[in-house]
Order: sequence, then C-alpha cells, then structure tokens
Amino acid sequence: MPNKKHIVIVGAGPGGLCAGMLLSKRGFKVTIFDKNNEVGGRNRPIRLGDFIFDTGPTFLLMKHVLDDMFALCGKKSADYLEFIKLDPMYRLLFSDRSIQVFSDRNKMRAELEQGFNEGSSGYDAYLKREGKHFEKLYPCIKRDYTSIKAFFSWDLIKAIPYLALNHSVFSNLGNYFKEEKMRLVFSFQSKYLGMSPWDCPAIFTMLSYLEHEYGIYHVKGGLNKIAEAMAKVIIEQGGQIYTDTEIESLVIKNKKVKGVRLQDGTEMLADDVIINADFSHAMTHLVKPNELKQYSPEKIDKLEYSCSTFMLYLGLDKFYDLPHHTIAFADDYVTNINNIFHSKTLSKDFSFYVQNACVNDATLAPVGKSALYVLVPTPNNESHTDWDTYCADMREQVLNTLETRLNLTDIRAHIEQEKIITPKTWETDEYVFKGATFSLAHKFSQLLYWRPHNQFQELDSCYLVGGGTHPGSGLPTIYESAHISAKLICKKYGVKFGLAT
Ligand SMILES: Cc1cc2nc3c(=O)[nH]c(=O)nc-3n(C[C@H](O)[C@H](O)[C@H](O)COP(=O)(O)OP(=O)(O)OC[C@H]3O[C@@H](n4cnc5c(N)ncnc54)[C@H](O)[C@@H]3O)c2cc1C
Repeated sequence: MPNKKHIVIVGAGPGGLCAGMLLSKRGFKVTIFDKNNEVGGRNRPIRLGDFIFDTGPTFLLMKHVLDDMFALCGKKSADYLEFIKLDPMYRLLFSDRSIQVFSDRNKMRAELEQGFNEGSSGYDAYLKREGKHFEKLYPCIKRDYTSIKAFFSWDLIKAIPYLALNHSVFSNLGNYFKEEKMRLVFSFQSKYLGMSPWDCPAIFTMLSYLEHEYGIYHVKGGLNKIAEAMAKVIIEQGGQIYTDTEIESLVIKNKKVKGVRLQDGTEMLADDVIINADFSHAMTHLVKPNELKQYSPEKIDKLEYSCSTFMLYLGLDKFYDLPHHTIAFADDYVTNINNIFHSKTLSKDFSFYVQNACVNDATLAPVGKSALYVLVPTPNNESHTDWDTYCADMREQVLNTLETRLNLTDIRAHIEQEKIITPKTWETDEYVFKGATFSLAHKFSQLLYWRPHNQFQELDSCYLVGGGTHPGSGLPTIYESAHISAKLICKKYGVKFGLAT
C-alpha cells in the first residue's frame, strides 16, 4: 500500500461515502464523522414503525456512474444492491391528461401520439441532438475546475457550441416541441436541480435525455441502501465511520486545515479534510466568520439557492395501487413556478410528486399497506414563512390535494404513521443552508469554475464533495464530485489513481 495519509471526512452523505470508498481503496486512512445516527445524509432511510422511506433521492439516474464507483474499488454494485429498472419510468399528471413516460422508445412514441396534437415528431430529434450534447458536455462535467487553466480545457472549448448560453431549458426545448405541456414533459426535470425550467441553463436540457437513454432505477429497500452499501465497502477496506458525532469546527492554521474539532472538544488531526456537509452551511458554521473572503458569510448569503420542499411521509394501513412515481403539475404551473422561485410565496395550487415504491418493492411496508412519500416544491427559507405555524395548514392542503388529484378519498382514515420535513427543518435539523434542499442554484454563474472548487480555493488541505460543489446536486454528479476530489488527493501524494486491483 502506497501511504497512510489520514483523510477526515465531515459528513456521511453520498459524496462523503463515495470519496471514503475511493480513498480507502487506495491505501488512505479514512475517518468519517456524521452527526446523524445513520449514514446517508439526505439519502438515509426514515423508519416509521414497519414502514421505510427514503428521506430524499428516489430516482437513480445514470446507474452506470454508481457502477463505475464500485468498479473503481474492485467491486460490483450488483453484489451489494438489487436494482429494479422502472418502465414506465413515471406518470405525469396534468389537469386535463395523464402521460406515462417510458424509456422504451416505441412505447414512448405511442404515448406522445395519443397525448399530444403534435405527436412524437420532435421526440427523435430531441434524443438525437441532446445525445450529442451529452457526449460533448459530460467530459467537461467530470473535470476539476480548480484553476482557470483547467477551465480552458480542450473538452470545454469543443463543448462551447453546445452550451446554448443564452437559453433556458424551456426555451431550448422550443427547438423540438411546440405545445407548452409537451415541453413540460421534457423540462420539469430542472426541478431535480431545484430550479425553474424557465431559468435553468439550457445545458440541463439533457436531464430528460438521460432518463430516456439510461432509464430510471429503484433499489430494493430504497435508494438509502446505496449509502449503506458504500459504508460497508469503506469498512471492508479498513475505513472508520463514526455516526452520532458532530463536528464543531475545522482546525485551521495559516489558511491550512489541520483537522477537525468534535463537539466534545476533541481534536482529530488529519493530512486533509473533505467536507461533505452542505457547502454553505459548513462555511458559515465550521469556519470563523473572518476566515474566508470569497465565501464570507455575507457573500454566501448573497449566492442564489435552489428551492426547498415540504415532505410528507405516510405509512398507510391500506395498499394503494398508484404508480411508483407520479409527478402532478399545478393547474397554473407558471404561477406556481413564479411563486417558488421569484416572489417566494406559497401557492394554494401547487405541483407535487408522490412515490409509491411498495408497488415494486415489498420490503418497504407490511403486506396490504403502503408507504407514500409526498414532495411539494416550495420556496426556500428566503420566503421567511413561519413553518411552525403554517405546517399543519400545509399538511391539510397536501392531504386535500391527494384526495382530489389522485382520488385517494379515504387517505386520512388510513394514516398509521407520518413524518413531516418542512423547509425550516431542512435547515435546523438537516443542516441545509436556507433549507435549499438541492443546494446552491445551478445557474451558469454558479457552475463549473464558478461553483465552489473541489479543491477548496480558500483553504489548503481542504476538499469539497456533495451537491454544493462542482459538478452539482443529484446522485451521479455527487459521485463525480467524490471521484474528482479523490483523484486530486491521490495526485497530491503521488498515488496512482488507476483502476482498482
Ligand atoms: C427531497 C430530496 C429529493 C431528492 N431527490 C433526488 C433524486 O431523486 N435523485 C437524485 O439523484 N438526487 C436527488 N436529490 C439530491 C441529492 O442526491 C441528495 O440531496 C443527496 O443526499 C446530497 O448528497 P450530499 O453528498 O451533498 O450530502 P448530504 O446528503 O447533504 O449529506 C451531508 C451529511 O453531512 C452531515 N453533516 C453536516 N454537518 C455536519 C457536522 N457539523 N458534523 C457531522 N456531520 C455533518 C449531515 O448530517 C449529512 O449526513 C434529492 C434531494 C432531496 C433533499
């Protein structure tokens, strides 16, 4: 083994675990701390009685990226996880029609023919062109942008014609589709980044392409099993994970991170520290206010953040035969989007998402019962909503909406277990800055070189992984952030990254 450099990781979310997995495989001594009693962060399970829910991620996109991370540790993801490919991938519910979205091309064409006047004519052009964009852009996403030299890479220069810099996802889709609802079928995915399709840079038009090309997967037991599997690999490779252990601050001397200080005052020194805690939360809580310039508390406050979400997890004593994933659009989608992202107010008529994974996975609820996960996009805490007061009202509105839009007229009578996460509790309990569940917004001026660098530009021996750094929020890109940071650390110590043996 090449070395025994000690890497401490703050946070056992997907980014921290993936980095821990890659580095422990390469001979580093890895120690991970998380304040929660279980690993996974926003990707950990919620257990209510006999029901299991994923806290956050429920769509596994680009499964091959996850497979690659296991392969880089000489492992097969399928030896740790049971994957279920979904087709139909999800149902989209508009006020006047319902569409099933398939990764099977013929089924998808038939669905578009039946659902829209313009039929499926734009669909093939969309897949072809966005496929090409993806091919050009993905190498840029996988790069590190620690220096301006890295930014002006040949990959990026080749990709410039594909960036459609002045366009949003919604306007870019006008190249393929005419009807607004047709464009929504291929653009609502910008909400995965916590952004409006009208603001989200056109580069993200490829999100929907990725679903159609690579499919969407569920993992038996929930996507939280991925975090559990990564933790298992870390332990197998000799790493250590401490849960229920909160980091109070970074130990910094002369702009170099020397280690971490635990809540009980213990200091653990390290050669390098990787921060997986939400970037803006970490920089405003683990570092003294005068330590940073580019990311001082005032400047962090002024950055743009993603939306938040109101979450309702329901353990029901009745089996509901709803699709695995349903995305329902507000009747007045544009107003709902403007309320969330611009006026930062709450809508009575809101879009929502419901996961009913029990239809494909019997491990999540007892026989004859259902575990429903309901997500309502809301403004982040810049809205200054008093969630302590408003929470009960919002719960009623969500249940009313499930009754009317999904026809679950008896749902209230069947609630056996429930849990709510509000934008406020994302911030206070989950340590997500401004409750912005998808971290820093993904507008162009906060991407690539302009997103906090994986090798943090303001402190030596400090690396970043997770949704708040490059490449961005979403499991595959978070795994790529871990891959980039792990490679940078290997390079620093002359450790060959290579393929795992
Ligand atoms: C509701 C929701 C739905 C989502 N859906 C999807 C989806 O379907 N598909 C997808 O790909 N992505 C999705 N995402 C986005 C993204 O995949 C997740 O948010 C992901 O969990 C973020 O990973 P992360 O590595 O940034 O770390 P996090 O999950 O944020 O984990 C960070 C960890 O750091 C810990 N921590 C923070 N401060 C400290 C401290 N001081 N000391 C010790 N530990 C600390 C926290 O406890 C936490 O465990 C979703 C996110 C949310 C919230």
